[in-house]
Amino acid sequence: TATTPVLGINGLTARYGAATVLRGVDLQVKPGEVVALLGPNGAGKTTLMRTAAGLVPASAGTVTLAGVDVTRRSPHRRARAGLCLVPEGRGIFPSLTVRENLRLQGAPRQRKETLDRIVEAFPVLGERLGAPAARLSGGQQQMIALGRSLVTNPDVVMLDEVSMGLAPLVIDQIFEALERLARTGTALLVVEQYVSRALAMADSVYVLSRGQVSWHGTPSEITEEEIMRRYLAVE
Ligand code: ATP
Repeated sequence: TATTPVLGINGLTARYGAATVLRGVDLQVKPGEVVALLGPNGAGKTTLMRTAAGLVPASAGTVTLAGVDVTRRSPHRRARAGLCLVPEGRGIFPSLTVRENLRLQGAPRQRKETLDRIVEAFPVLGERLGAPAARLSGGQQQMIALGRSLVTNPDVVMLDEVSMGLAPLVIDQIFEALERLARTGTALLVVEQYVSRALAMADSVYVLSRGQVSWHGTPSEITEEEIMRRYLAVE
């Protein structure tokens, strides 16, 4: 269709020194869509998100947000234009309270609206706003990191292995929260090691292998078993 993607990645190439890690990647996230990005370790998934966010320079290709080329813009300006990255590892401050970690901005009324939105997506945070983050469980801390991503009211959130190191029950809660978030119209680009969970929530799937898109389609066009065997099998 002719829908302008909220996030467009076009012929993207990135390298660390002499090592080329992304080789002409094309990927689109349409408004409100959940896109799963799968691939073996070292395929370049994290680098793709970091390059989209402006933390790694693109050596070729473009990144667009709602059709606007942001390839030469700073990470901060991309964030203001509606893109948010939740990096691997939680990046929260253990001694600060949950509320402080959210780093709400703006006038009191605006802060309240933002906080309401975050608590709606992650109700457990609402009960622990004054508690030091260190006192929360690993899953709740991950929810702080996710909630924090909503402060700028982004159009698209990139999530790098948010289930890492969490117990299955907690992962269920995180995924439920992500699905609630997606239903509010926020588009998601999700890197996830649990292929079945990624397929269950995604509208569109990309498999990355050695820095290139090796498969792209919808979850109905492929099974978990096929993805594992064809693309993620350890050689
Ligand atoms: P994983 O699932 O292991 O996180 P990934 O698909 O996210 O893998 P990347 O982290 O993007 O892959 O790494 C892609 C390649 O780039 C790997 O070969 C990695 O060793 C290399 N790489 C990643 N970060 C750097 C860096 N800061 N400097 C040099 N090489 C790097």
